[in-house]
Amino acid sequence: MYIGGRWRPANGDRRIDVIAPTTEQVVAQVPAGSALDVDDAVRAARAALPGWAATPPAGRAALLGKVRELMAARRQEITATIALELGAPPAFAAAVHTGLPIAVMGSFAALAAEYPFEEKIGNSTVFHEPVGVVGAITPWNYPLHQIVAKVAPALAAGCPVVLKPAEDTPLVAQLLTEILHEAGVPAGVFNLVTGLGPVAGQALVEHPGVDLVSFTGSTAVGRQIGATAGAAVKRVALELGGKSANVILPGADLGRAVNVGLANVFANSGQTCSAWTRILVDSERYDEAVDLAVAATAKYVPGERVGPLVNAEQRHRVRGYIRRGVEEGARIVAGGPEAPEGLATGYYVRPTVFADVRPEMTIAQEEIFGPVVVLIRYEDEEDALRIANGTVYGLAGAVWGPDEETAVAFARRMDTGQVDINGGRFNPLAPFGGYKQSGVGRELGAHGLAEYLQTKSLQF
Ligand code: NAD
Repeated sequence: MYIGGRWRPANGDRRIDVIAPTTEQVVAQVPAGSALDVDDAVRAARAALPGWAATPPAGRAALLGKVRELMAARRQEITATIALELGAPPAFAAAVHTGLPIAVMGSFAALAAEYPFEEKIGNSTVFHEPVGVVGAITPWNYPLHQIVAKVAPALAAGCPVVLKPAEDTPLVAQLLTEILHEAGVPAGVFNLVTGLGPVAGQALVEHPGVDLVSFTGSTAVGRQIGATAGAAVKRVALELGGKSANVILPGADLGRAVNVGLANVFANSGQTCSAWTRILVDSERYDEAVDLAVAATAKYVPGERVGPLVNAEQRHRVRGYIRRGVEEGARIVAGGPEAPEGLATGYYVRPTVFADVRPEMTIAQEEIFGPVVVLIRYEDEEDALRIANGTVYGLAGAVWGPDEETAVAFARRMDTGQVDINGGRFNPLAPFGGYKQSGVGRELGAHGLAEYLQTKSLQF
């Protein structure tokens, strides 16, 4: 546990095994924190709140800049750690799992310096003040990015943090903690409690000393956290699941749309909340799209370009969905539920494409969180829109059109928080978050920073 500026043993002696998904071997152990550890951490954070909140934004910005530098200096160590505990292929671990959080840390260093923490409205001066102590709970799928997307804006806003990272990927959280310590983050401003969700996570959500809970993970747990936080009138931010649509309109570049779409899903072995797991194609070009998808999927070889899933349970879950798709009458055109050839060890799943998928099937409605794509046929634009909006989720999406105007017009009618137009690039400064059951609140950029602020108006 890292509490009050120093590493110290947990109150209990339970430990969590960290298993490498590629070898299925235990590679490390971390302490399983208890409610007592969480209480110590929250107290340390509360004690640090006045000092950190009063630190001028320029001071907070300089510290985050230093953190970014140290992250960049330890880039290779970060990549190796994530490749080990998540099983991410090294190239993806370096480019995305390491590169993205370094960029995001840098973006909040800049924002802390530039953000208007004070504004004038008529005869009022409005101060944007830190919301207080933040309890951050993160998942394993983008282990460092998800942490940085909470810790960086919280610190930029002047909020101390208690972090409870995912059980499967605690090592990179420990590495970031070392970096924060080395950068000189004051005692109590950042605290780490590793542990189990229903124990340490729940204790953090319930703790009266926590003012805001920021959670990323499953919708089931998010719902529970929202209810607990709501009952205590505590602020809550939830980044939950998705079942995003990749809508290919008539006249769009079909080959590019299918290829980029599959890359979007198969990256990180499909363990991406914003993945475009439903490809929607018009009837006329549907068969051509299926052929293109089959050809493209052959390039995604498990053990090379595609890593394993994070653990045995996730593999079991994903294979269960693939079997369910077959039972419901969808047609497997690539992949399948069997283990990939030659990979007896490691939690691998074959990249799988389903055709003849109806929008109401389980595999077209529920988040699978594995390398599984469904191809759905639509009749006309209204049908495509109804299908695209026809799930409980609304996190991301893509639209490919014959021109930008047509694609934008369609995207404006989608119930979702982000849409990439004709292959538009991910923007780490754009607000990220869900419509409907994909969540509450926004992360990244100025909108992400605003989540950690509350306003006070003085009238003159
Ligand atoms: P999860 O929601 O159980 O875990 C996410 C985090 O919440 C972890 O740190 C966990 O320890 C913690 N947690 C679990 N129960 C808790 C509780 N009662 N109180 C407080 N904290 C708690 O997710 P998971 O089991 O790791 O994955 C299951 C499914 O969730 C996946 O298959 C996927 O569909 C979804 N998921 C979504 C995202 C996302 O980015 N939206 C990320 C990971 C998983």
